[in-house]
Amino acid sequence: MNENVKEVLNQRIERAIKGLENHNMNGYYAKDIDNLYEIVGSLLNKNDLVSFGGSMTLFETGLIEFVRKGEYRVLDRYEKGLSKTDIKELFRKTFSANAYLASANAIIETGEIYNVDGNGNRVAAMMYGPDKVIIIAGANKIVKNLDEAINRNKYISAPANTKRLNIDTPCKKIGVCVDCNSINRICNKYSLIRKDNDKNRMHVIFLDENYGF
Ligand code: SF4
Repeated sequence: MNENVKEVLNQRIERAIKGLENHNMNGYYAKDIDNLYEIVGSLLNKNDLVSFGGSMTLFETGLIEFVRKGEYRVLDRYEKGLSKTDIKELFRKTFSANAYLASANAIIETGEIYNVDGNGNRVAAMMYGPDKVIIIAGANKIVKNLDEAINRNKYISAPANTKRLNIDTPCKKIGVCVDCNSINRICNKYSLIRKDNDKNRMHVIFLDENYGF
């Protein structure tokens, strides 16, 4: 990456970390993947019950495997052979987890976390339940304000996810949101986390590369 672009991205990450800290949450910069694992490892304890939100970033950074190989108890939504009932139970057990790993649709520089879910299990767990929420965000997830966060979902995250999951929605076909009324709509539950009263609960780790969408 061009050095000047890297510097701009790092300044953006610095602003986001400051914004989160102003809202009683925690921000970190991971200089590379090994450093990311070190930070995540420092936030988890041996035998912690750990769960994941659906996330391309967690796969791309190898964090799913990192947790599976660690000394943790894992509520693994990606385990082969799980039935719909198993997954429903796993999502409910997630509320009792020690830690929840996920990414976000957008992190607003002023220190807010924006998400949109189809099912709602991810936004629900981020808002309440797990003792600790650890969000991994590439620099591509940082936006200036709420309008940019909303548009990021409409123009990038949701259309890309419907393509990835082969979900039949208008945005899968045309690549942009039309605020559909489709039975397959993936934008149903919206959340904006502005602050947490528990300083130890919300942790956002930034990387200065693009991850997920
Ligand atoms: S509301 Fe519908 S068209 Fe818009 S992004 Fe979501 S699924 Fe796609």
